[in-house]
Amino acid sequence: MGTAEKPSTRRPAIQLNVKTILNQIQPHAGFVFQDIRLHGRHGQPERIEISVRAHEGMQRRCSQCQRPAPGYDELRERAWRHVPLWGIAVWFHDAPRRVECPEHGVVVEDIPWSEGKRRLPAAMMGFLARWARRLSWRETAEAFQVSWEAVYRSVAWFVAWGLAHRALKGVESIGVDEIHWGRGLRASNFLTVIYQIGAHCRRLLWVGPGRSQRTLHQGLKAVGPEVVKGLRFVCSDMWKPYLDIIAAQAGEALHVLDRFHITLHLHQAVDHVRRAESVRLRAAGQAAAEQLKHTRWSLLRRSSRVRGRARQKLNALLASKLRTARAWELKEVFSHFWKYRSLTWAGAFLDYWCYRAMRSRIEPMKRVARMLRAHEELLLNWFRA
Ligand SMILES: [Zn+2]
Repeated sequence: MGTAEKPSTRRPAIQLNVKTILNQIQPHAGFVFQDIRLHGRHGQPERIEISVRAHEGMQRRCSQCQRPAPGYDELRERAWRHVPLWGIAVWFHDAPRRVECPEHGVVVEDIPWSEGKRRLPAAMMGFLARWARRLSWRETAEAFQVSWEAVYRSVAWFVAWGLAHRALKGVESIGVDEIHWGRGLRASNFLTVIYQIGAHCRRLLWVGPGRSQRTLHQGLKAVGPEVVKGLRFVCSDMWKPYLDIIAAQAGEALHVLDRFHITLHLHQAVDHVRRAESVRLRAAGQAAAEQLKHTRWSLLRRSSRVRGRARQKLNALLASKLRTARAWELKEVFSHFWKYRSLTWAGAFLDYWCYRAMRSRIEPMKRVARMLRAHEELLLNWFRA
């Protein structure tokens, strides 16, 4: 790698070189790692460039059928982003050739680390997809300096590969969710995900762009009609296109509006109240505005989990007559809903809660109450499930 610096002590018996590592973890039959260079700026390493070349005597293969085919011409050099080493970005460089396949005509040769026109080699996509299970997609993109879209494509590829290579058996419950990214509410800022809900796990089954009926339709098709027929429970948010498609396609399954989504709506409502009130108080120059400062996270956590200084602050806020305090109380009270065992009592509680929320004169809370009432049946399915 680059020019070796003269070691100050005696040379160790074995010099490890990046080529050795690559040949061990990423051997590509018929290709050699020709040249590896470290580029940097102002003394900081920036990227490692690895030129890959095909063996001279090597038969090229058609990318469509993987059968040997005679060479045709050479394309411009391309670069593929690879798995980083020591946090330094790694790029593969190669000038792919085109071959003349008896069956497929003039096509790009088969390149083992690349699939079709993808910019990321399979190893990199696997790497990103695995990290995306532990970090958020945004964090994954930041940590490895790739775009959010590269992470999404890697996850989608990984999941599609999984779907094609395993039989989905015994999937009884799925969840349908949307993921928002970037700014704005355009359809292209949303993804739809379908995941299996097991006793202890959530396994991603499918991910696709958009959040329309068509998106979910495609997703359920990819998961397979066999699986959809066998579903017993489907959890989802109250997004209308999802509700319609689930009712039409998985009519046999009980559709449940899950706890996660309801809690999310309540949190958003409390946060909305807090922000609006904070702006109003500050504009009026009222001292009470101070009480709302830095309370966002304590307000959203479950009450029993707020401790120490944050607890004192929260208590003081709750003793006030602020709207935020009343909204918070409504949110906290709602958590009892999930503890009921009986459908009747749960229904009665829901009535009581909605009545209180409607009388609170706090618009965001009233909105949640209206939404819950409109979907009461689906919500109560939680207890039937
Ligand atoms: Zn071919």
